[in-house]
Amino acid sequence: MLYLDNSATTQVHPEVKDAMLPYIMEEFGNPSSKYYSVAENAKKAVKEARSSLASLLGCSPSELIFTSGSTESNNMVIKGVADYYQSKGNHIITTKVEHPSVLETCRYLETKGYKVSYLDVDQFGRINLEELRREIKNETILISIIWGNNELGSLNDMMSISNICYENNIFLHSDATQIVGKVNFSLENYPGLTFLSISAHKFHGPKGIGATFIRKDQYDILTKLTPLLHGGGQENSLRSGTLAVHNIVGLGIAAKLAKKNLRENIKKLKQLEEYLTTILSDKFGNNILYNNDRDNKIPGVISVQFKGTNNEVLLKSLSPFIAASTGSACSSSKPSHVLEAIGLSIEELRSTVRFSLSTFISRDDLNIFREL
Ligand code: PMP
Repeated sequence: MLYLDNSATTQVHPEVKDAMLPYIMEEFGNPSSKYYSVAENAKKAVKEARSSLASLLGCSPSELIFTSGSTESNNMVIKGVADYYQSKGNHIITTKVEHPSVLETCRYLETKGYKVSYLDVDQFGRINLEELRREIKNETILISIIWGNNELGSLNDMMSISNICYENNIFLHSDATQIVGKVNFSLENYPGLTFLSISAHKFHGPKGIGATFIRKDQYDILTKLTPLLHGGGQENSLRSGTLAVHNIVGLGIAAKLAKKNLRENIKKLKQLEEYLTTILSDKFGNNILYNNDRDNKIPGVISVQFKGTNNEVLLKSLSPFIAASTGSACSSSKPSHVLEAIGLSIEELRSTVRFSLSTFISRDDLNIFREL
């Protein structure tokens, strides 16, 4: 079976698994404990993983807080900023094409009296910078904008967005879940970006582990926000709970591999995407239509309409040979809010399939599409 649902999750890299195993078995210590070796070894492993992730993202290790993944990181930042800065304002700006972990968090805050602006997007899912500028008010405390869309692959112009937020002195958060290991960026170059959410299972790490980047100011102090989880004070008192050392080690190795192979992986994903679109175009001609843009996107993600075909029926019939999805795995029972936001009709939406590739496959594997 050919797995083409890598935006939903990815397979764990064998090196990640190998590195994790000792921390499930013999190195089982709590990194918050002291003196004895299993605790010290666990602490050292966490430190190393934090450094590897910082090196991938282009930030300082002390700007990273380990979480259970992007759902938690998104909740942490949005609720945490809303709570901490409530005396400064009650307005948040986001987009109509965010992941549910951003949208539902914003909707929850609306029930608590916060005001949220949901920006429209263009036909490929990108925001308009002028509209963003227009929405900024004195009460705006946070802007949360997805970097790479999980259904379309389109990338927002994060450099300009970061500059706008910097000039206006407003915190910017970005859900970067889908771009890690697939887009070359360094947080050093985005001084306006204060918070970032990432998740290991999207780049060949384990599930249930991710991180929040929180920028330090010029005095070396982390940007303040109210913690989501109170307790024993781990992670700078911003995320209490015993650290999941084996998962953190896995995240660290996944980050190391992502950094080492970044250019090569991007090149391979682009080539695979091009090959797949060529096969699909040869085979289906005018019976297919791409929802995604060709440029400025996450390599290896395509969203394609099979005209006149119901996507669920198609995916079910393909499932013995090819694993793909209609869009986001997190809201697969509802029609996609992302495709709705780019203006697709219900028929177009219901004929859309997302194929998301990984470097674990070869060109030859994609020839299966020729035999369908
Ligand atoms: N944001 C985006 C853009 C995603 O694609 C996902 C995963 N589908 C999430 C957030 C949630 O990530 P996690 O599974 O780590 O909670």
